[in-house]
Amino acid sequence: MGSREDTLVIHEIYASIQGESTFAGLPCAFVRTTGCNLRCVWCDTPQAFHGGTRMDRGDVLARALSFRTPLVELTGGEPLLQPGVFPLMTELCDAGRTVLVETSGEADVARVDPRVHKVMDLKCPGSGESHRNRWDNLGHITPADEIKFVLADRADYEWMRAAIRERKLTDRTPNLLASTVFGRLAPRDLVAWVLEDALPVRVQLQMHKYVWAPDATGV
Ligand code: SF4
Repeated sequence: MGSREDTLVIHEIYASIQGESTFAGLPCAFVRTTGCNLRCVWCDTPQAFHGGTRMDRGDVLARALSFRTPLVELTGGEPLLQPGVFPLMTELCDAGRTVLVETSGEADVARVDPRVHKVMDLKCPGSGESHRNRWDNLGHITPADEIKFVLADRADYEWMRAAIRERKLTDRTPNLLASTVFGRLAPRDLVAWVLEDALPVRVQLQMHKYVWAPDATGV
């Protein structure tokens, strides 16, 4: 009988450009796992909550490597809910890839291979899941990792500002990312607030949404 780590339930594996983080704009293979134990009110991937295909871990690895991108990201859903993700990330690192994992901030990141760049959310109140933040995870965040806030309104911004100051997040990593919920908070407002407070965050737009938006026809 195989172990629980031998297979994964996968929503999709595909190549695109990395839309967020300090790696934004780079070609990347994405492994999107099925399932999440949170329900952020603005979640943009609810289709990954259910269904998916159970695949052998070796097949997931081969498919992710087949795109020949230097970067591979594990995302979801919440990838860290599946035990097979941990050896998969190690195998991707061993294969010479730069590996990112997008994680909610609720799942325990202690077992993540130290070579993997964690892009960890801290859920703001507007998500409805702020009470699920696993603050102990901050002890595993290094300068190679990134902490991401997704902001729906001014109250979320003020919550982020307090978290950065009170929890001394810049001592953990210089990579603090601030995004807006698409269509809910105008990026120009966020930029104005960040400048007013001289807050040490990287404002980011979800680049892939502009590339693939129906009216993004290019030239
Ligand atoms: S943690 Fe991510 S996948 Fe899960 S509900 Fe929130 S935004 Fe959606």
